[in-house]
Amino acid sequence: MRNKALKSCRICNSKNLSKYLDLGKHPFSNSFINKKQIRLEKKFPLELVLCKTCYLSQLSIIPDTKFIFDKYDYLSSSSRALSNHYKKLVETLSKQEKLKKDDVVMDIGCNDGILLNHYPDYLKNIIGIEPSNAINFVNKKKIIPLKQFFNFNNSKNYLKKFDKPKIITITNVLAQIEDLNDFAKGLQNVLRDDGIIVIEFPYLKDMIDKGFFDLIYHEHLSYFSLNPIKYLFEKYDLRLFNYQKVEIGASGPALRVFLCKKNFKKKVTKKLKKQLKKELDWGLSNILKYKNFSKKTFRIIENIRGVIIKKYKEGYNLGCYTASAKGNTMLNCIKISKKIFKYTSENNKRKINKYTPGTHLKIINDVEFINKRIDYALLLSWNYANFFLKNSEFKKKGGKFIIPFPKLKIK
Ligand SMILES: [Zn+2]
Repeated sequence: MRNKALKSCRICNSKNLSKYLDLGKHPFSNSFINKKQIRLEKKFPLELVLCKTCYLSQLSIIPDTKFIFDKYDYLSSSSRALSNHYKKLVETLSKQEKLKKDDVVMDIGCNDGILLNHYPDYLKNIIGIEPSNAINFVNKKKIIPLKQFFNFNNSKNYLKKFDKPKIITITNVLAQIEDLNDFAKGLQNVLRDDGIIVIEFPYLKDMIDKGFFDLIYHEHLSYFSLNPIKYLFEKYDLRLFNYQKVEIGASGPALRVFLCKKNFKKKVTKKLKKQLKKELDWGLSNILKYKNFSKKTFRIIENIRGVIIKKYKEGYNLGCYTASAKGNTMLNCIKISKKIFKYTSENNKRKINKYTPGTHLKIINDVEFINKRIDYALLLSWNYANFFLKNSEFKKKGGKFIIPFPKLKIK
């Protein structure tokens, strides 16, 4: 496994990078392992740097992504809340863009088809692009699966076989792209002249304001705000014209941006112009803002740790709930001993009986979890708190969640 140090900014190639956060060494967050693999596990620095030229935040290393995808256990559709979120997005886009049956739609990083499944069947071509094994789980009657990375070269091959898409969606993917310039060039190449691109990503400003440090893991190479995104895509004649905040995304609250080709008629919204300026006033270019985030992160880690230790000392049984990538950053940062946490509950069958990377909690199903008589569970996928508070058997049987974000609470 070879990880490279980041030498220059992923967007603008500047070497003016400034480190502001060091979370120590972590294993890859999505690499859930079996018992035999525990002693082979490796850890790598989890640090963030700021590019002082275009203000993109990014990891200090470029992990070997091939390794990550080979071990990919994340199937999006295991999350009902996320599926509903994409259903609404697809319905709105179909209506707004007046989709016709000859139109092509494309989802980049389609995973198991969680978003594409919601498009109407009559569409000519529903294209799913995904490099991981998750694509083996798409409904092939409906979706044309292309098992590959999206890049400029593959975009040329794509156009030999298929028409240009009217709508391209990219949700929770951008952070994982190593060569963003090549990616943007590929998008410019495939998009129809009257097409739109919709991208969802966790918002750096929220991460910093609210202290969501668990968004940081090796699979997330970049941490975006609107200004660097605008700068990146304009290099390839793609124009940002609108944005929205969304409460649910695969990693928590997200930003959704809309892009089109430079000469397409979409008007730039006032709201977008305002937010671009607001980011700069807020301190997007100011390294102190980021260093304060670092201090805040360690305070938050201590607070969460404190609540857990207090409950343990009061004699309660504790566990964790869900086995998510973000949860592993949380667990590896709060460093709770195995005397206190032994298990985490999860409904994704492919993860059950495996162990969480770094902390080695055994992943068990809900029924087993309830049998362990756990009183308090740290909810690692706190972005779905409402869903679990309403639907989980654990809660119905009297268990309580320790919810770390947006404000630490017990419910
Ligand atoms: Zn830069």
